[in-house]
Amino acid sequence: MTHELKTGGDRGYLRIASEEAFATREQIDVYLRMVKDGTADKATTSLWGFYATSTSERAQLIMDRLMDLGERRIADMDATGIDKAILSLTSPGVQPMLDVAEAKGILTRANDTLKDACERYPTRFYGMTSIAPQDAEWSAQEIRRGAEELGFKGVMVNSHTQGMYLDEPQFDPILKAIADAGQVLYIHPQSPPDVMIGRMIDAGLDGAVFGFGVETAFHLLRMLTAGVFDRYPTLQVMAGHGCEALPYWLYRTNYMHLAGVRSQRYPAIQPLQHDLFHYMRNNILGTTSGLPFEPAIKLMIDVMGEDRVLYAMDYPYEYVADEVRTHDNLDITAEQKKKLMQTNAERWFKL
Ligand code: CA
Repeated sequence: MTHELKTGGDRGYLRIASEEAFATREQIDVYLRMVKDGTADKATTSLWGFYATSTSERAQLIMDRLMDLGERRIADMDATGIDKAILSLTSPGVQPMLDVAEAKGILTRANDTLKDACERYPTRFYGMTSIAPQDAEWSAQEIRRGAEELGFKGVMVNSHTQGMYLDEPQFDPILKAIADAGQVLYIHPQSPPDVMIGRMIDAGLDGAVFGFGVETAFHLLRMLTAGVFDRYPTLQVMAGHGCEALPYWLYRTNYMHLAGVRSQRYPAIQPLQHDLFHYMRNNILGTTSGLPFEPAIKLMIDVMGEDRVLYAMDYPYEYVADEVRTHDNLDITAEQKKKLMQTNAERWFKL
């Protein structure tokens, strides 16, 4: 099944990768300081205590590639036929940082760095605005700056912020600013907060292998069941990794949600304007980051609709040429494939 991977649309579509990460040195240095002085949460200690200090080949390659917003990244994109990348500051951004002023400074400089890179490679790179939900009003301003001054195409949040979730009232200025800007909110995983991570670490299952998906699916479900999309009916929330398995669970989640509403078992579970199927087909978008797996991609298309599923590579964490070929070889229609690889990204990010 090996075929040459070229940019330029030789297979009838451009490849636009929609969940691609970069890092800044000062961001990583703060993680390391927090790991060292014991103020980092368990997740950051497990994840960045490893990647930022390990001498393993995987960790070194990832660190080098994360820091590059220039020729190396472009060469890697060329080598795997990626025409355009939608870039965002790597998880967990500044969200675990306890010094909020420091977090905002690092974030402002990271957003500016990304803007400069997008200006250097205007046909290859697009950016998403990263925020510091610890300060929701400030983040709303940064969302507006990203959309109006930096030319960014969406907003990136790395799931929970120190154990708090975007459906909670203190974060409403963030949701409102995103809805007002008409931009997509991408909810990227990070490892679970200390109250959830528990025995996942000793099992080695706290990170991208499992904990990421569980925590992020929980976040998305909270937003659905708390009625965020009744408050903001036009808001579009994107999630990676097969939409964090929500399409697979949807029948049961919806059934049990309705049962919970009928039985009035929980104060938090109140009637919504629609069932969960409706929101999954009107407010949620999914990408294939980390999940180049035909049954999962087809399930997403079946459940969410062919206009709501987008390609992502998950560079540099998953930089695998054969995974691009897997997408090229998917047993779906040519029209669906063009939507998946190119036009859905153009539509939802307004490229
Ligand atoms: Ca990722």
